[in-house]
Amino acid sequence: MRAYRAKVVEPISLPDREERVANLEKAGYNVFNLDSDDVFIDLLTDSGTGTMSQDQWAAMMRGDEAYAGSDSFERLRESVADVMGFKNVVPAHQGRGAENVLYGVLVSKGDYVPNNTHFDTTRAHVVNNGGDPIDCPTDAAEDDPFKGNLDPEKVRELADDVGAENVPALVVTVTNNSMAGQPVSVENVREARDVADELDATFVIDACRFAENAYFVQQREEEFAESSVAAIAREQLSYADAIVMSGKKDALSNIGGFVGVCDGNLFERAKQRGILFEGFSTYGGLAGRDLEAMAVGLREAVTQEYIESRVEQVRELGDLLRDVGVPIYTPTGGHAVYVDAEAYLPEIPREQFPGQVLVGELYREGGVRAVELGEFAFPDEDRPQLARLCLPRRSYFRDHLEHVAETFEKVSARRGELAGLEVVEEPPMKELRHFSARLEPVA
Ligand SMILES: *Cc1c(COP(=O)(O)O)cnc(C)c1O
Repeated sequence: MRAYRAKVVEPISLPDREERVANLEKAGYNVFNLDSDDVFIDLLTDSGTGTMSQDQWAAMMRGDEAYAGSDSFERLRESVADVMGFKNVVPAHQGRGAENVLYGVLVSKGDYVPNNTHFDTTRAHVVNNGGDPIDCPTDAAEDDPFKGNLDPEKVRELADDVGAENVPALVVTVTNNSMAGQPVSVENVREARDVADELDATFVIDACRFAENAYFVQQREEEFAESSVAAIAREQLSYADAIVMSGKKDALSNIGGFVGVCDGNLFERAKQRGILFEGFSTYGGLAGRDLEAMAVGLREAVTQEYIESRVEQVRELGDLLRDVGVPIYTPTGGHAVYVDAEAYLPEIPREQFPGQVLVGELYREGGVRAVELGEFAFPDEDRPQLARLCLPRRSYFRDHLEHVAETFEKVSARRGELAGLEVVEEPPMKELRHFSARLEPVA
């Protein structure tokens, strides 16, 4: 049962079929180019797209707009200390701003940074500071409840190869966003802490989805079956020296982010860099109201009612899709359902972007917007061809999910007739092409 009811509504409508066909063509078969008004169910991302609570909106009204010594910042600081256990906070405009602040002080040219799996902006910030991002995911068995884990042995091998002195930081991302939102166990974080100590490296947790991860721990890690999600979250983060956070994820806000650190010296350095890039250390590129929204959202994120309905809704969407024969990645992760587009559209070769074909058809058949994560988004990388359906927090209901499943059934009925796509226009940086490139059906 959903743990909330709607209080503010945004009308949405499904354009008729002719309009959808025309919109898709006009967008160059790239759903990033669609107007959101033309989208019926928007599952492009869960970043900053969720619905805020009445308590968040109320708190925003008391947001102060002080440059220095803001009360709103003080409330955020208290919330981060209570919920996440870090007393030193450097605010930033969003998660990648926080990454720039932290990795800018930790990483230098020639360094190596291991991570269970780098999220794309994390990878970019390590590279931007001259470092080499190295993914060290576990080789998980099919029934492993924690497929997001780090492989500590791969980190040790890396350090043996390159020298521990060249590994300034070890990062664990919870949940593992780039690995289908799969969780990381507390046990694994303890092992990561030990490796960081062996290497004398700073242990960072990318905490963007820390609450979703804590819920999985409660459900799957025996030691924590009787613990509250709030207690698990604190325990898991307590092993880290620093955290980076996007307020657009598990702070249930539309914008914002921060770095949390224990050590006073590291805090000072991060604060100075924050002032340079984000703004003074009591606002970080945000208005007081944004700080207030995060302060309240963090506390809500670790309540059982909220987090259970969040993660179980993602599972519910996965179940509905499986019931109509859609091949999805299992078990479903914390924020999205991933469809194996190569298995779903086996006639379309990888070079013709089966994931992007599927994403286009979901819009054409049902006004649903998803995102391709395969050859189109990651050119020339040997990756699985996926389409991701990401659920905004507290925003959609069961009948919306049923509409998505019905849309898949319509696509399935036309599967044999679908043509592949080719890129006809792309920006100079191929890595960024999925945001703006234009495609056409292969003749
Ligand atoms: C979203 C995200 C980020 C970046 O946060 P933004 O607010 O989008 O800049 C970093 N790491 C992970 C794991 C994320 O999910």
